[in-house]
Parts: sequence; structure tokens; C-alpha cells
Amino acid sequence: MKFFLKVFGSLVILLIFLALIWIRSNLKDRNPGYLADFKIINGESSGLNAGFAAFPITPEVPDRWTDTNGDAKYNLKDGDAFTDGNGNGVFDPVWIAGFGNGRAANGIHDNLWSRTMVIDDSKTRLAIVVLDAIGFMNDEVIDVRNRIPGDAGVTSTIITSTHTHEGPDLIGLWGKSPFKSGVNEEYMEYVKSQAVKSVVAAVNAIRPVRLEVSEDLTGAIPLVMDTRKPEIFDFGLRLIRVIDKEDGNTLGSLIAWANHPETLWSKNLLITSDFPHYVRQGVEKGVFNGDSLVKPGIGGTAVYVNGAIGGLMTTHPNLAVKDPFTGQEFREPAFDKAEAQGKQLALLALNAMENPVEKIDSAGISLFVRTVTLPIDNKLFKLGTLLGLFDRGTCGWMKMRSELSVFKLGPVSFAAIPGEVYPEIINGGIEAPGGSDFPVEPVEVPSVRAMMPGKYKFIIGLANDEIGYIIPHSQWDVKAPYTYGRSDSPYGEENSLGPETAPILHGNIKEMLGELNRLE
Ligand SMILES: [Zn+2]
Repeated sequence: MKFFLKVFGSLVILLIFLALIWIRSNLKDRNPGYLADFKIINGESSGLNAGFAAFPITPEVPDRWTDTNGDAKYNLKDGDAFTDGNGNGVFDPVWIAGFGNGRAANGIHDNLWSRTMVIDDSKTRLAIVVLDAIGFMNDEVIDVRNRIPGDAGVTSTIITSTHTHEGPDLIGLWGKSPFKSGVNEEYMEYVKSQAVKSVVAAVNAIRPVRLEVSEDLTGAIPLVMDTRKPEIFDFGLRLIRVIDKEDGNTLGSLIAWANHPETLWSKNLLITSDFPHYVRQGVEKGVFNGDSLVKPGIGGTAVYVNGAIGGLMTTHPNLAVKDPFTGQEFREPAFDKAEAQGKQLALLALNAMENPVEKIDSAGISLFVRTVTLPIDNKLFKLGTLLGLFDRGTCGWMKMRSELSVFKLGPVSFAAIPGEVYPEIINGGIEAPGGSDFPVEPVEVPSVRAMMPGKYKFIIGLANDEIGYIIPHSQWDVKAPYTYGRSDSPYGEENSLGPETAPILHGNIKEMLGELNRLE
């Protein structure tokens, strides 16, 4: 008996030891010592060059899957066995990110993309890569940067995600169950290699260019709703059309707006980039009413960038969207609705681009990049980190490395923020409502846009990371009593690192923008 107790005891000790080794490897810094910190200052004006490229990052999904009973159904909970529509083969499902767990893709509606714009002032070559993905974490960003060949001459790379809720999991939260990562390593590898190819191809396509800046700051108001008080949006459409200086052709465009690409909502099982697909298609190829072309496109490669989408910018199933030509209203989540929304946005963009507010023939790029360390306060995120659900490691006990960048190009400035920032932090309007967990005056002031230099101010959300929601400190609300007369904690905090995230990021942006402003 004693002998068995001894063996049992040793086994328990061994298991604890192995568990500790496993946890330690989950916490291990994937990029020890990595610092993105640098400053590039170019007050001189020089000619600009730019190039665009688009490479698909669509996953492989059998045309239609059936479960072991031969039925296709939503939220397959039991069994890992999936066969194709003819009953052949068994494959690993592609887990769709956003909403709940266990949403296996059952086909492809439109391609997902890695779309890159490279801009160059002869001193700095900046690549902006946009992935049709839920998010792309900082360690993965660093990995892609390390893979870009040196002879591409790229000084700095910003990788952001559209945050589509209808594409594969690249974060780890949306696998078959809450305790299983939905990230497929082979797919992650494919995304990274396509991202690198899109940067190299955009560099190879570089031409001397003129930039045309345009805006429509109010037209898109009906297309987004705010599901959390205070009702502050970031609904302005901000656009840059990039024109070949020699032949006058459009090489591409940058379309910045702020809304969750989740118009297809939680029951859709087809891979799609959601409304950004229709926006890009409309801007490039034109907007059609049925078969007839109503508004010609500008050609080139359209790049859609998402901005301040926290707090929470969405096209909820309660929000009806109208077809711009027939006036037909779509409320239920469906491709018709995403298409109507995309057409409206494309029309607004194309109309605005006919009357640019600024033409830029020469400018210098000034760019500040800063690594920031953020505490992981969220208990579920702590658990996810310990269990390795988030494959990102830590840089200190329950601390994660992330990144901020700000840059300007003549009269245009950009703030690249690593997650889903609440629009009140960007545009002002933070409140200190009774019932919040911290009875303090708004901390993240002045607003980011008020501090940005230049006349035209672009926000790049989910930039170089996806850390979740960035919530104003004075609006943080997990403990009773609750804000705005709520009976329960609002949605947001459970997908945020914690209440210190916004103050830390805002404090850093304030310093960086202060310095950028002093260059004026
Ligand atoms: Zn989100």
C-alpha cells in the first residue's frame, strides 16, 4: 500500500511539475527584448511614391460540409468529424471568429485579402498592410516584419485588421469550445506568407504619385449604431486617392471608416470580409443597380481601414440599411444587407473623391513608433494567457507588449492604435457617469483628434495588435451600482485588458503627438 501511495504521490508531483513547465512556456516572451521604438523626422518636402498590392488570404473550406449525420447545421457542438457535401473525407473545420464558439465555416462567399499600400518619401518607406481578419496580435506582426526581405527597403510596417467577424480565428478565442484555440497553424502561416508577398509586390509596383485627400464626415451616419452610452461615433469617411503622376491612372485608395464588419452577424457560416468587400468592389469597379452601372469606379486597389470601433460601433440586426437605388430596406442580417451598406459607402466615397479637399504632390513622412507594456487585469484574459489560448506570451508577470505609432505626411496625420478604441477617446465626449467603478473626472483628455497635427486626421484601429476594447477609465463599469441606470454590467469590459489600458495608451499618444506637433 505504502509503495502505491509513493508511486501515486510521485505521479502527482510529476504532473504538477509538467503543468508548471507548460504554463511557463505559455508565458514565455516570444520576442524577448523587442522594442519597436524609433523616430523619423522629415521636415523637408520631397516627391512621393506609392504602390499597392492585394493577395488573397482565403482559407480552404470544402464547398459544403455535413456532420456525421449528413446534416449541415449551425453551431456543430458534437464530434470533430466533418465530411464534404458528398460524404467524402474528414477535415478540420475552419472556426469563424467573432460572436460565439463552435461556428464552423461552411463555404466561401468572397475572398479575404491582405491589401498593402506602400508610401515612400525617398527617406522613409512605410507599408500599411490590412488583413481581412478579426485581429492580428503583436507577436505575429513582429514575425511578418522579420520575414520582409531587406532589399524591399521597408522602413516600417503597420499591420492592421478589418476586424471581420466572418473570417477564420487568428486570435484563439473562437475554437470549438472556449478552452480550445480556433487558430489553425497552417492557415496562420499562409496569412503571414501572403502578407509578406503583398508588401513585396506593393514595393515593386511603386510609382511617383499625387495624393488626393477627400472626406464625407456625415453621409455614413445612418449606417452605424452605438450600442453603449455615451453615444459618440467616428462616422466620418476619410479617403486618400493615389494617382500615378505620369499617366493619371488611379493606383489605389485608402478608405477609412469605423464600424464592426459584422453586418452578416452570428449565424452566417460563409467566409466573407462583410461590408468592406462591397465597399472595395464599388470603389474599384463601380456601383451597380442590378446590371446597370450607375457610378463608375476609379480602378486600382482599394484598401479599407477600420478606425475607432469600440463602444460599440455596429450594424446591429435592429438597424435597417437601405439599398441606395431601390430604397428597399434590409434589417435581418444577410448578404443583401451588407451589399446595400457597401454600395452606400462606396457611393459616398466615390462622390467625395470627385471633389478632393487637398492635393499633395510632395511631403515628408515623420513617424514615431513606441512599444508599450500593458497590464493584463482581465481574469479571463489571464486564464487564456496561462492556458496558451492566446499564443502571445508575456513580457513580465501578466504584462503584454503592444505598440503605438503616429505619423504625418504634409497636412495629413495618422494615429495607429492597437485595439478597438472607444470613439469618445478619439473625438471627445468621455463622461464620468454616476455608478462607474472609478469616480474620477475623464482621464483621457484632450481627445486624440484634438491633439493630432494637420488638417486631415486618420485613425487606424487594431494597428499592429488586437488587445480588445480600450475603454475610458471613468466609464469602466463592472461593479454595482451601474452607470446610466443599468441593472447589470455593460458589454465591453469582459473583452478589455483592464481599466488602466486607456490611460496608459492615451498618456503615450499624448507625448508622441506633442512631439509630432512641435515639428510644425
Ligand atoms: Zn470588436
